[in-house]
Amino acid sequence: MSDIIKLLPDHVANQIAAGEVVQRPASVVKELLENAIDAGATQIQMIIKDAGKTLIQVIDNGKGMSMTDARMAFERHATSKISTADDLFNLHTKGFRGEALASVAAIAQISVKSKREEDDLGTLLAIEGSKITKQEPVVTSKGTMISVRNLFYNVPARRKFLKSDQVELRNITDEFHRVAMVHPEVAISFTHNDTSLFNLVKSTYRQRIVGIMGAKTNEKLVPVEEETELMSIRGFIGKPEFARKTRGLQYFFVNNRFIKHNYLNHAVASAFEGLLKDKSNPSYFLYLTVPTDSVDINIHPTKTEVKFDDEHSLYAILRASVKHALGQFSVNSIDFQQE
Ligand code: ADP
Ligand code: MG
Repeated sequence: MSDIIKLLPDHVANQIAAGEVVQRPASVVKELLENAIDAGATQIQMIIKDAGKTLIQVIDNGKGMSMTDARMAFERHATSKISTADDLFNLHTKGFRGEALASVAAIAQISVKSKREEDDLGTLLAIEGSKITKQEPVVTSKGTMISVRNLFYNVPARRKFLKSDQVELRNITDEFHRVAMVHPEVAISFTHNDTSLFNLVKSTYRQRIVGIMGAKTNEKLVPVEEETELMSIRGFIGKPEFARKTRGLQYFFVNNRFIKHNYLNHAVASAFEGLLKDKSNPSYFLYLTVPTDSVDINIHPTKTEVKFDDEHSLYAILRASVKHALGQFSVNSIDFQQE
């Protein structure tokens, strides 16, 4: 009998990896927006067709790529963002796994145009099913445009499981909110089927939240600010009347990254104790900064779950500062009952 173990061909390995990174159009949106931010863009345009099923396009004015880098970007584990294992504990970029573009390229038709400041001509690439099908110099401006067409065109089982346009668009919008909310310094727009949904100019955090959530939000935001060695906190909690039945308006960002964290959520909720009607959930938009070596964000490919070194202390700090903020604005249960 001959030996039977072989290495999988790259395009198969990429397609398997894509299963983890790319669940739906919104996953692609997240990866492309994060790459644009990591490239130092100050302006980002996102153009979506058919809830991302036919087109997801992101155009940035960031640093662009050389021709070789543009090709390399679609290889697995190819990244410019880290080079040693130690770098994992000192992350300053959103990306670092070098997996996103390789994964997307395995399951969609991609075209890229990119140019660096110092180059006269940019690069145009077309990639389909992990293969580069076209490469030529192109006249373009500094930055990168990536178009992802026909997601899962070659994985019918996955394509079939996509939800209605309404649901997929909601997921895309959620990802857009998360990136836009943590980068008010970046002008960012979102167009769906030729309708402009958002066109956000560079602004403050408060203006950005209001730009996304609507003008009425402004008067409902109570600022939170705290500075300790373990964590700094800035951002806003919603006054009690801004609480919701669902958990929709709860945003934690840790070191500029949107995360979900039940334990920290509990810290905020418990600070609101006695102020909320039964089963309603406080709204919050909280930007936490912790030392990069005190948090592990590499526990899941989508990076929305993180592990902190000292969760209990963070809980206490967060709870106290939310309580303090609520007290300062004398938002108490009596006001609430008069609503
Ligand atoms: P990661 O972001 O984890 O490094 P990706 O697969 O998302 O992995 O991207 C691979 C590489 O391609 C990045 O490290 C970066 O060098 C380059 N890249 C991707 N998108 C852009 C962009 N919009 N502008 C400039 N470079 C980019
Ligand atoms: Mg990336």
